[in-house]
Parts: sequence; structure tokens; C-alpha cells
Amino acid sequence: MQWSYAPSRSPAAKVQRRVVQWRRACNAEIAPDRPVVTFTFDDFPKSALNGADALEKHGGRGGFYACTSMMGMRSPVMGEMFDAATLADLRQRGHEIGAHSHTHLDCARARLEKVERDIGENLVALSESGHHETVSAFAFPYGETSYAAKRWVGDVFTTGRGVLPGVNSGEVDRSQLRAVELGSSTMHRRRALAALKSCVETNGWLFFFTHDVGPSPSSYGAPFGLIDELAQRAVDAGAVLVAPTLGAVLCGVSD
Ligand SMILES: [Zn+2]
Repeated sequence: MQWSYAPSRSPAAKVQRRVVQWRRACNAEIAPDRPVVTFTFDDFPKSALNGADALEKHGGRGGFYACTSMMGMRSPVMGEMFDAATLADLRQRGHEIGAHSHTHLDCARARLEKVERDIGENLVALSESGHHETVSAFAFPYGETSYAAKRWVGDVFTTGRGVLPGVNSGEVDRSQLRAVELGSSTMHRRRALAALKSCVETNGWLFFFTHDVGPSPSSYGAPFGLIDELAQRAVDAGAVLVAPTLGAVLCGVSD
């Protein structure tokens, strides 16, 4: 496992990212009865279970996107990664396991055949570790994607989640849903609260994403208290806290 890869920051890559974001692969209309909030955890470290605890405190469930080459490994930054027992535990508690590629592939730079093979491997590895449910949710590693990858992900999964910030409302691309990052800084908290407010006002679908969860999370992670606070505020504002595929159903994205 290569823990330190970073997507290209070249001007060409930045332009490409904008073009891909603008070009919708799978149009969908978000129209829930009540605002929908979906907390998600990527990769994912075992400490993300703390996030599951925080959601359950408020009657909510979340989504956990599993990068299977990290299974049973120890990340130098995020600590112990999920294993088969973690998957079983989450499943039993009503959370959703999503796909996140096998090798944490940069889907913007890889050819489509490689994207297909890698995500296929991801699904096989999940099944071999005892996860036999249909996997309907996907999150792009680094949020990186291409138009072709979005089309394919839209065929295979109900939802594809990116990392472009914002609330999903009105017409969206269900293969590149927006998501707001959770972290430890006051800026993260401020942005998350603003997004939640906008989600409630627009009757939209808000994804939050992070990685590890704990009292002193890594720079990729979020504190338990922030998830607890946001979940409480969301419920108080009349939103439902659900996993990605139930969110898609409630928003009318899938049936
Ligand atoms: Zn990831």
C-alpha cells in the first residue's frame, strides 16, 4: 500500500477536474420530504467506529467506504485499518459498506479498464471478507475522477461520492455527489455548520466525509465531538441521518 500518493496539482489537472465536475454523467433530481444528512468515512481506519457511535447516539447510520488493499494494515497516519470483523460489526449495526477501489486508485489518471479492474477487485475482496450484500455506494479516492469513470460508476453503483464541497440539491450528478470535509479546525466546523444550514434551507442532501475519529484525530480525521454536535443539530433541524443508499432512496435518486 502506497500511503503517500497525492493527485496531480498541475494547472492541466486542475482544468481537467473542473471540466469533469461540470460534465454530469448521471443526472438526478434531489427531492426528499425532509433534508437528508449522510456521514461517511473513507478508507477506513477502525477508529471510524467512533463515528458510528456518535451517529447511533442520535438514531443515525452512516456509510463506510472500504479500500480493501488497506484491510488489516496499519496506516502511519490513521492507525489500524478496518478488517473483516469491523465490516461485520458495522453491518450488524445497520451501517452501509461502500466501495472505494482496491488500491486507492486515482481514477482521473488511470485508464477506464484499470478503474474497472481495480473496483472489481475491491468488490471481490469485500465479498471474500464476508460482505455478501450488494455494494451500491462508491466514493472516488481523493475525489479524483474522469467522465468515463463517472459513467461506469453510475452504471455499477447507485451513488458515486466525490470531495467537491457543497450541498446536493435540485439537479445533481449522482455519480459525483458533493461532500463537505470534517476536520479538527474551527474552519472545518464553520463550513460544516454553514453547509448544514444550507441543506436544511434547500431541502437537500448533505454528505460529510472524514477518515479517523477520536479525541486527537490525524489531519485527515475529525473529532468525535464535531460529529456528535453536527448529528444533534441535523436531527434538531428535522433532517434524517442515513447511509448513502437509503439517502438515495429518500431523495428519489433510486427506487
Ligand atoms: Zn480514500
